[in-house]
Amino acid sequence: MKVWINGKLLAAEEAAISVFDHCVLYGDGVFEGIRIYNGKILQCSAHMDRLFASADGIRLPVTLTKQEIVDAMYKTLAANSISDGYIRLVVTRGPGTLGLNPFKCSGGSVIIIADQIALYPPEMYETGLEVIVAKTRRISSEMLSPTVKSCNYLNNIMARAEAVDAGASEAIMLNAEGTVAEATGDNVFIVSDGTVITPPPEAGSLGGITRQVVIGLAGDLEIPLAERTVTVEQLYSADECFLTGTAAEVIAVTKIDGHVIGSGKAGPITKKLLDAFRQFIQTECGKK
Ligand code: PMP
Repeated sequence: MKVWINGKLLAAEEAAISVFDHCVLYGDGVFEGIRIYNGKILQCSAHMDRLFASADGIRLPVTLTKQEIVDAMYKTLAANSISDGYIRLVVTRGPGTLGLNPFKCSGGSVIIIADQIALYPPEMYETGLEVIVAKTRRISSEMLSPTVKSCNYLNNIMARAEAVDAGASEAIMLNAEGTVAEATGDNVFIVSDGTVITPPPEAGSLGGITRQVVIGLAGDLEIPLAERTVTVEQLYSADECFLTGTAAEVIAVTKIDGHVIGSGKAGPITKKLLDAFRQFIQTECGKK
């Protein structure tokens, strides 16, 4: 595997950053997870916009332009012969002192890793996921904006560890007010009386790129959709529930803390939106 790092494509074993990089010492950096279908980057400009917004959110300068990063991503895909897979794009703060001061760091790294992606098995899109509601709450925007996709994912990792302990696939995280924020690596939607409902970004979620596409697709399909608060009770009693994310696409949730959701299988609106999302991928990236 070849990894792109600061303008060079290096063998994976040689691609390294300093142990003094504040990304290593403090998780001080930002990243993107990006899907490649049929040799094309899905929602490329949305990912570039979010990367730069995340960097802005933590006052991190990015030394390359969006176009330079896009060109580097395509170079990395070609070097690894990947036409369907995943890119992890990371921008680090750079080496500094052992103190916290971010302005004493210089020469941050831009890293691009292109790889295959581990997906949920196809049958899970029919049977749905079993998830829990985590005790670990999502950090609120007064602490660090949840819209920043930072390299410090410990908040989400601790919630995911709870899911692993419970034998569940994912954990839904609540905000400080106790309403639904998002899952550890996905956005959350429910369907109630024919309306698709997803918590607004202010509830404490990352601005999911898949979420935004699905909101648009629901509009195209004239499925009623509302961005509003979702309580745990509404979650448990939803007719359908599904998660959206770059890796998962659109996947049903059929059990939450032991409560069976709807029929216990992927519901009709979830399936309609998954089909529409897969159609969207084909339109954007071309047929195989
Ligand atoms: N929330 C969190 C915390 C995430 O890490 C992700 C995955 N990047 C998402 C939501 C979904 O976002 P996207 O659709 O852009 O992958």
